[in-house]
Formats: sequence, structure tokens, C-alpha cells
Amino acid sequence: MKRVWNTPLWIIWALLCVACTTQPLPQPTPNKPDTEQGGSSTDTEQGGSGSSTDTEQDGDVDESKESYVVILSMDAFRYDLADMYDTPTLDSIARVGVYSEIMPCFPSNTFPNHYSMATGLHPDHHGIVNNTFFDETTYKTYSISDDDAKADANFYKGEPIWNTVERQGLTAHIYGWVGIDANINNRKPTVAMSYDYRLSQRQLADKVIDAMCQENVEDIPNLVMWYFDEPDAVEHDYSPTSDQTRRVVEEIDDVLAYFMREMRNSPVFEDINFIFTSDHGMVELHPDKYFNIYSLIPNKIQYYYNSNPVTLKPYDLAETKAIYNTLKAHEEEGHYRVWLREDMPEELHYGTYTTRIYPIVLLADTGWKVVYNKNANSGRPTAKYSNHGYNPYDREMHMVFYGCGPAFKRGYTHNKVFQNLNDHLIISHILGIDPATPNDCTWEDIEGLFVTE
Ligand code: AMP
Ligand code: ZN
Ligand code: ZN
Repeated sequence: MKRVWNTPLWIIWALLCVACTTQPLPQPTPNKPDTEQGGSSTDTEQGGSGSSTDTEQDGDVDESKESYVVILSMDAFRYDLADMYDTPTLDSIARVGVYSEIMPCFPSNTFPNHYSMATGLHPDHHGIVNNTFFDETTYKTYSISDDDAKADANFYKGEPIWNTVERQGLTAHIYGWVGIDANINNRKPTVAMSYDYRLSQRQLADKVIDAMCQENVEDIPNLVMWYFDEPDAVEHDYSPTSDQTRRVVEEIDDVLAYFMREMRNSPVFEDINFIFTSDHGMVELHPDKYFNIYSLIPNKIQYYYNSNPVTLKPYDLAETKAIYNTLKAHEEEGHYRVWLREDMPEELHYGTYTTRIYPIVLLADTGWKVVYNKNANSGRPTAKYSNHGYNPYDREMHMVFYGCGPAFKRGYTHNKVFQNLNDHLIISHILGIDPATPNDCTWEDIEGLFVTE
């Protein structure tokens, strides 16, 4: 893949002049983002994406010029949160860049999806098949709360984008993204910070600002990936439509205003492509939308996960089909779909990782809670309790994608709900590197986001 430069010539000339005279770059004046519709300039605004330039055809441009991607994942930033709440910074990013509603991979949970965004693979192909799972070949359990498991490279298949980037000579700084604890394919990126729930969003923003605003341009990473664990936590407890969630979403937007303001001090600000996105959506549950399958198949199941999806391994594998048939007969009453692992619908891309997925897979209808538990009421949701993990094609599971910078169109709303695993290809395209192979990305789904050559 060849490198494509979309930066206007005047910026390139400006940078060349700066390089020649060794004068410091003029620092932009920090000010509040323009929040008015149709406003002409905002804090988030960069030099623009007027005419594009291809270095391979134009000898005038600086061929050593770098591209940059800074991507933030805000956990469970559902597609409609920015419409419901006051988010001037994200609104202004949409005005100067691109916006798309996007969808998660299955299952729509945090770990499978972050690692899909990194690798460009479906969870069934990259191996992090859920937040928790048991690997029957190694007899080890993967869990988001187990530091040893998170650092065990054997769990992670595929190639995360930070390795793809560094293998091809660029640099990556990764702050708290799923997968960063392990030496995948025996390597880690230049900066590999583990997730730390004690760090505030502002502290995390400062880390990225420090990395991108270094005086020595050579030290600035080409790729930064960073992560907020909100608004997921507040939505779980209070629902996406609560005052509590409003407050958290608006606080996030304030942090992003600060972030974009500070980012203008970066010597490469005009060349940075910013992405603000998420891993999945969220849906409010209800105490009455609850079904316990235990009494249908009492004492039949040896191992199970009561997450979304519910997965079951019978004591007697010869009984698998009979147990499945029983559950199938109650699908409507129980508000779920059930499949034998090998018969999952194609569009969910799930069930081929047979050593990590139990033989029966049951997915509750979106907004329902289904469990296998001896205790009749175990796991019944409380009012307001919300969750995800449901069918990625249901709109409540959808989330946001904002992008701005020289590679992205300006003021463009994409009308194709693409899957977040395409982030791997989006980053590869912008940085001008080859994506990892194999990958499950679809260029046609994301092509429209970019300025054309
Ligand atoms: P869930 O809602 O169960 O899919 O998981 C979301 C939670 O995962 C967040 O609230 C974070 O606290 C936690 N989390 C996210 N990334 C990590 C990580 N790398 N290590 C441990 N926990 C994480
Ligand atoms: Zn999540
Ligand atoms: Zn969650």
C-alpha cells in the first residue's frame, strides 16, 4: 500500500519553512470550541483537507512527513448519547470531520470488541471470545480481572495494530487498551501502559498530550490508542437515559474540549487524525424481562457462563442435541435464541473456536436477562440495571465513530453502519502501512470516510 498524503500544500510548505529556519512553530491561541451549528472555526479544526497530494507524483513535498492517528475508545458510548446530551466538542468534531453510527462484533462486550478493533478480526478468529472463557487445550481461564491471564500471550491470536505499526517501522503508544499486557508475537509497542482504573480521564488525556506535544518531532508516536472506562460503568448502574449518565457524558465532552485545546500545541497538530469511538452500546433491563432455563434442563449442565451469550457444556456430551432441542422449544417463551455451537448464524461470526466456546450458545433477546441457575430468582435485574453483549445488529448495541484530521472528509455523515473491527484497516490506511493478514475488514464499508487522492 502506498503512502497517501492528504495535507494541503500550504501546510507542507509551512512545515518546510519551519524546518529550514529552525524557528519554533507558532502556537495557536487556546479558546473554547465553537459550539454553534454552522460555525466556521472550532478548537478541533485543523488545516483542512482541501486538495490532496500524492508524494509519489509530486516531487515538491516532504517525503519524510509522517501521519498520525490518535484513537480514543469511550466504553459503551451508545450511538444516541451525543444526541441526548450536551456534547459541543463531539458535535464540533463531526462538523469538521466525519461521523458514523457503527456496530460491535459479537459478543458485544468490552474485551472481544477492543481486541477486534486492534486486530481487525472477529472474536471467533482472534480468540478473545468473551470477557471470560475457558480454554480446553491449556486448561486456563481468561478473565478481565485476572492479571496473569491478561498477560498470557497464548490467549491472543491475530496481530494487534500496535504490532502491525511497529513491525513496519512506525511507533505506537498504547494506554490501557485490551491486549496491551501481553507480549503478543513476542513484542510490545514503544509505550505499553496497562489499564489503571484509578487514573482520571483528565490524567489519561495528559498522558496523550505529553506524547503528542513533544518538542522533538522524532519522538512523537504515529499511533496512540487510549481508553475511558466510562460511560459504561454509570450506564450499567443507572441506565443510558439517567441524569447520572448525562453528567458523565458531559464531563467526558469537557475533557475532550481540554484535550483538543492542548493538542493544538503539538508540532504535528495539522497531521494528526483523531478518532473518538466505542466498543458497544447499552440497553436498559427490567426485573420482569427475566427467564431462568434451569428448570428446563435440571442438573444437565456441567459448565456454563451466565453472560451474554449464555454458553453451556453438558455433563454428558451425548445429550447435547437433546438439551438443545428442549431449549429450542422454549425460545419464544424465554425470549432468547439458542444454537448448537456449529450452527450459529453466519452474520454473528461465532462458534468455530470450539476449544473456547461451549457446545450450546444461547443469546437473550436484547433487553432480556436469561440465566441457568438453580436459584429461581438468581440474577434477576434490578430496575434501571443495564447491559450489553446482545445481538450487534440491534440498534441499542450501536455506538459512535467520530474522525477528524487530514485523512477524513469534512462535515460528512457516513450512512453505512460499519463494524468496529474496521478500525484496524482505518488506522493502517491513514498511516500508509499494510494491514495485518488475515483480517476481516471490509474496505468498501469505510472507504467513504476518507478524502480521495
Ligand atoms: P464489561 O462492561 O463487563 O464488558 O467491561 C467493562 C469494564 O471492563 C470496564 O468498566 C473496565 O473497568 C474494565 N476494563 C476495561 N479494560 C480493562 C483492562 N484492560 N483490564 C481490566 N479491566 C478492564
Ligand atoms: Zn465495554
Ligand atoms: Zn459494560
